[in-house]
Amino acid sequence: MTIVRAGHLYDGTLEPAKQNVDVVVDDGGRIAEIRAATGSCDFEAACVTPGLVNAHAHLEASGEPDLMGAFQTTPANERLLNAVANARKALRAGVTTIRDVGSSNGFAQSVRDAIEAGKIPGPRMRAAGAVICMTGGHGWPIGRMVDSPWESRKAVREQMWAGADCIKFIATGGVLTKGAVPGNAQLTPDELNAGVDEAHRHGLRVAAHAIGTVGIKNALRAGVDSVEHATLLDDEAIELFKRNRTFLVPTLSAPTCILTHLEDGQQPKYVVDKARGLNEVMLNNLRGAYERGVRIAGGSDAGTPYNYHENYAIEVELMWSMLGMTPQQALHAATAVAAELIGLHKGILAIGEPADMLLLDRNVGDDVRALQDPKAVIKGGEAV
Ligand SMILES: [Zn+2]
Repeated sequence: MTIVRAGHLYDGTLEPAKQNVDVVVDDGGRIAEIRAATGSCDFEAACVTPGLVNAHAHLEASGEPDLMGAFQTTPANERLLNAVANARKALRAGVTTIRDVGSSNGFAQSVRDAIEAGKIPGPRMRAAGAVICMTGGHGWPIGRMVDSPWESRKAVREQMWAGADCIKFIATGGVLTKGAVPGNAQLTPDELNAGVDEAHRHGLRVAAHAIGTVGIKNALRAGVDSVEHATLLDDEAIELFKRNRTFLVPTLSAPTCILTHLEDGQQPKYVVDKARGLNEVMLNNLRGAYERGVRIAGGSDAGTPYNYHENYAIEVELMWSMLGMTPQQALHAATAVAAELIGLHKGILAIGEPADMLLLDRNVGDDVRALQDPKAVIKGGEAV
């Protein structure tokens, strides 16, 4: 039994924080009791929160300025080792659950299985395997290219066969792939509908990359569980999000990191130009979606240029500063909501849930940036 004492306990919900409580962890690494502080304890912190949940990451990528180039020039064995290192970095920075939404060679599944087997340190994981995209579409260097509804189904079956436990479709162009226009729809409604039906039939949740308006709505109408980025959404898309209770994963870090590193000249010009054009509209759109009640799940696109796996707490800060969330709402999006999307556990500190916790030396409710420097990270009741 392990006892973690909290001055302020934020359980991941939007309920008021509890003061001076003990979280009692059983020997199986789950929370057995939350009670008034009493007697001795094993850990003590001014503030305790659930471990962070990053619903959009690419462990194989390490923030290289020219990411798609790096995918093509870095040997595969080196990329697998990078994924192992990134899983460790994410965990040490407080990410105790992560969803990898695109990797080559089944790397993310291998990392997930090695973590589960206790061979390497890392967060609890789900892995989508290869992204499913049209021929030459966005993300093709880590993609399985399809050009018909039946190929879309077959690609889902292949990912399942390769151990994927969620699926990612590319519904529009993207910033990082040369020639892929972010605003243009890519997979057709027929391809998305067939693929989502196939994935859901087997109980796999589906994420769709979508930046342009038409592609966002194609994905929403196909019934995906989450839309990633959703930059150019409109009123109709917001209504579809709400009607279908689809999660929106805003990945604010991705364009922010690209645009704050314009001067170093390491990024391809097409990336910089595309990111610049999108950033102006992104803030109003995503903030409006949040204000109108779309469910926002935290996810950073970690691995994209300058967007490091150990910096997920910055995405939480951006949800506060850019979307107008309170610190507690941003924490909620990056724990309970993201966890609900991923589906491994609830992402809250409650009886029976995994004891995944961050120990902070100041109150996150006063300053969301307290998450950026946890003094300890606990996963399944054990300090990492
Ligand atoms: Zn991504």
